[in-house]
Amino acid sequence: MAKPARGDGPPCPRCEASLYKRHCKYVCPQHGVIYDCSDPFR
Ligand SMILES: [Zn+2]
Repeated sequence: MAKPARGDGPPCPRCEASLYKRHCKYVCPQHGVIYDCSDPFR
């Protein structure tokens, strides 16, 4: 996996933007919530 560009979260699998980590979720600024902390896929 690529290194996070800003140390905030992993890159979006669709657009590679840095995801924001918000309340146990990773949110893409363009795609919305990508991962939830309870999501088995990371
Ligand atoms: Zn995205």
